[in-house]
Amino acid sequence: RNIINTDIITEEKQLEKNLRPKYLNEYIGQEKIKSNLKIYIDAARLRKESLDHILFYGPPGLGKTTLSSIIAAEMGVNLKITSGPAIEKPGEIAAILNNLSENDVLFIDEIHRLNRQVEEILYPAMEDFAIDIILGKESAARSIRLDLPKFTLIGATTRAGLLSAPLRDRFGIVHKLEFYNEGELKNIITRSAMVLGIEIDEKGACEIAKRSRGTPRLANRLLKRVRDFAQVKYDGTVTKEAADYALDILDVDKLGLDQNDREILSVIIEKFAGGPVGIDTIAASLNEDAGTLEEVYEPYLMMQGLINRTPRGRIATDNAYKHLGIIKEK
Ligand code: ADP
Repeated sequence: RNIINTDIITEEKQLEKNLRPKYLNEYIGQEKIKSNLKIYIDAARLRKESLDHILFYGPPGLGKTTLSSIIAAEMGVNLKITSGPAIEKPGEIAAILNNLSENDVLFIDEIHRLNRQVEEILYPAMEDFAIDIILGKESAARSIRLDLPKFTLIGATTRAGLLSAPLRDRFGIVHKLEFYNEGELKNIITRSAMVLGIEIDEKGACEIAKRSRGTPRLANRLLKRVRDFAQVKYDGTVTKEAADYALDILDVDKLGLDQNDREILSVIIEKFAGGPVGIDTIAASLNEDAGTLEEVYEPYLMMQGLINRTPRGRIATDNAYKHLGIIKEK
C-alpha cells in the first residue's frame, strides 16, 4: 500500500511540475495578486534589490508554490524549496540560509509547522539578513553574527491562524489566495489539456471546471482521470458526457464536493438538526482538527452557500439540504 501511495504521489508531483506555468503572464486568475506582484517585481528589479518577504495563505492547491517559482523566474534568481516539517534543527536552517546567493528566493511550504528554535533563527535573518551563532558552552559561550546575502523568503500556509505573530509581522507582503471561478478553471483545464496532449471540447472542460472545487490542483487531477475514462469508454475526447460519466464514478458531485465535504454537511444536518453548532463540536464528531475544518474545508462550503457562520455556530443552509436530498423538518 505504501508503495502504491508513493507512486501516486510521485506521479502527481511530476504532473504538477509539467503543468506549472513558468511566468506571470501564463498564470491564470488571482488577478489582484498578479497585478500587485508585477509592480513589486518591477520595482525590485529597477532598484536591483531583493523582493520583500512574502506570505501566501489559503487552501491547498490554489497556486502558492506555483506563484513562488514564477516570482523567482521573473526576478531571474534561484529558487530553493523546503518546508516547515523538513527543517528540524536551527543548524539546518542556518545552512540553507548560508547557501543562498544574493536576491535568491527561499520558499518554505507549510511554514506554520516550523519549530520555535528554527523560527528564532529566521527573525534576524529576515530583518537584518544575519544570523547569530552561539559558540562555546555555558560561561564561555559567545555569539557571533554571520552576514547573509539579501534574499526573499516566501512562506506558504494553509493555516494562517497557526502562524506566530512575530513571524507573520516580518512579512512585508501578505496575500490570500482565493478559489478560482469556473471560467478561470476552464482556462486552466484547457491549457493543461494542451500541454498533456489531451483532446477536450468546450463542454467537457466546463463540466470538469464546475466540479473542481475552485482548485487548479484538483482540476488537473480530474482532467487526467477523466481522460482515462474517455479513452476506454468513449472515443478519447473529453466531452461533457465522458466527464459526467467519469466524475460520477469518481464520486465527485455536481458542486465538486468530495466525501469529506458531504460528511461535514450531513453531520450538521443529521446530528445537530442543521445547527447552529460550534466548530469544535463538529470537529469532534468527525474526529477532525477544528482548525483544518475551518481553514481547509469550510471556506469552499461557505462560498457555495452551503453553510453559514453565525455567532452561535455553523448552520446548514436550505441549499445544503437540497444538495444532499434531505427534507428539512420544520
Ligand atoms: P499550492 O502550493 O497552493 O498547494 P500549487 O502551486 O502546487 O498549489 O498548485 C497546484 C497545481 O495547480 C500546480 O501544479 C499548477 O499546475 C496548478 N495551478 C495552480 N495555480 C494555477 C494557475 N493560476 N494557473 C494554472 N495552473 C495553476
